[in-house]
Amino acid sequence: MALKTSSCRLLFKFIHQGAVAPLAGQNALRSVLGWSSTRGYYNSGKPSYAGAGGAAHVRVVDLRSDTVTKPGPAMRQAMAEAKVGDDVMGEDPTVNELQKIAADIFGMEAALFVPSGTMSNLIAVMVHCRERGDEVIVGDLSHLHIYEQGGSAQLAGVHSTTVTTLPDGTFDLEQLESKIRHGYPDPHYPRSRLVCVENTHNIQGGRVLPLAFLQEVRALADRYGLSVHMDGARIMNAAVAQGVPPSAILQHTDTVSVCLSKGLGAPVGTMLAGPQDFISRAVRCRKALGGGMRQAGILAAAGKLSLQNMVGRLEEDHRNAKTFAQALLDCNPNLFAVDLAAVETNILRFRLQDLSLSPCEFCDRMAQVSKSEEAALGQGIQVLMYPHFGNSVRAVWHLGISPEDTQLAIQKMQFVVSQHVMENIRAQ
Ligand SMILES: *Cc1c(COP(=O)(O)O)cnc(C)c1O
Repeated sequence: MALKTSSCRLLFKFIHQGAVAPLAGQNALRSVLGWSSTRGYYNSGKPSYAGAGGAAHVRVVDLRSDTVTKPGPAMRQAMAEAKVGDDVMGEDPTVNELQKIAADIFGMEAALFVPSGTMSNLIAVMVHCRERGDEVIVGDLSHLHIYEQGGSAQLAGVHSTTVTTLPDGTFDLEQLESKIRHGYPDPHYPRSRLVCVENTHNIQGGRVLPLAFLQEVRALADRYGLSVHMDGARIMNAAVAQGVPPSAILQHTDTVSVCLSKGLGAPVGTMLAGPQDFISRAVRCRKALGGGMRQAGILAAAGKLSLQNMVGRLEEDHRNAKTFAQALLDCNPNLFAVDLAAVETNILRFRLQDLSLSPCEFCDRMAQVSKSEEAALGQGIQVLMYPHFGNSVRAVWHLGISPEDTQLAIQKMQFVVSQHVMENIRAQ
C-alpha cells in the first residue's frame, strides 16, 4: 500500500508539472507513462520523468541515456566561433574539416556529417541496397531493426531478414549464413546485399563485439559478395574498451555510422564513413531525406571537439558503470542479478529477482525524493533510469556523471533497497 501511495504521489507530481495529461486511475497513468507490465522491445514507451531539474537541494543523477549530455563552455565557444559556409554546396570549411578528421580516425576514404544516427543508418541501407528487392540481414535486437521505425522498409523499400542477437551482441555465424539468399535472379527471392552489425550493442547492454567475430562476419560476407555496415553509434566506447584504434575494428566493415551526440557530448550529429563512391551516393540520399544542412559548421565545430577531445574520458564512464554494478551485488545479491563481466562499457543492465519489486517500481523509487530520504541521507537524490525488457533496468553513464554522482546513485539505491526490505518485514 505504501508503494502505491508513493508512486501515485510521484505521478501526480508529473501531472502537476504538465508532463502527462490528467487521467483517472493509476493504471491509466501507468499506460500513459508506458509502464505496462508487458513492456518489451515492441511496446517500450518510456516513462516521462519530470527530467533533470527539481528543487535546488535535490541532486539529480540522470542515467537515462548518454544522449542527455550537454555541450560545455569550450564546445559552445567553438560553435560560436566556427567558420561556416553552405554545406549543401560543399562550402562549409568546418564540416569539411570534421569529415576529413572522421575519415582519418575511422580509416575510411571519406565521411559525411548527417543529422542523426537513424538517418545515417537509413542512408547506409539505401546506398548498399540500391535495387528494389534487395535485402539486409540485421540482428533481431538491433537498434536498426527495433528503434528506427522500420525505415528500411518504410522509406528505402528494402526487405529485412533477422538473425538472433546473442547476449554478447554477436550472431551465430551458421544462422547468419543460413539467412543468405542464393536464388537470384530467380524471381521468387529477394537478393541479399548487406549485413549490419552493432557495436557496442545497445539493447544487450553496451556489449563490445569481439574482433574475431567481425573477422568471421567479414570472411562470410566476402564469400557471398555482401557488404558489411556497422551501426557504431558507440564505436568509440568499443575502441576504448578494447584498447585499439577504431580503424582496427573498422578494417572488417565497409561502412560505419558513429554518433557524436551520445557519450562524445556533441549536441547534434552523426558521422557516416566508407569508400568515396559510397559517400558520394550517401550525399544524394541525405539530401533526399531532408538532411542537407546549410551553415552546419556551427554543429560540426562541436563534433570536431567530440572526436578530438572527448574520447579519452569514455574510460571514466566505463569505470563508473562497473562501480555501480559492483555496488548492486555488494548491496543485495539476492535482489540484483548482474553479470559483472558483461559490464564492458557505459551501459549497465541488471535484473531484479524479487517479484515484489518490479523494474518499474524500482525506477519509480529511485526517481522520487521523500522527507525520510532527506532525513536519512542528508539530501534528496533523484536518480533517473529506465525499466527495460525482461525484468531488467538500464542505466547509462556519460560525461554528465562524475564518480561522486555515481556514489550518490549508490547511496540512493542502498536507501531504496533498505526501505523495500523493511516493508517486506512489516508485511509479514
Ligand atoms: C542512438 C543510436 C542510434 C541512432 O540514434 P539517433 O537518436 O537517431 O541519433 C543508432 N544506433 C544505436 C545503436 C544507437 O544507440
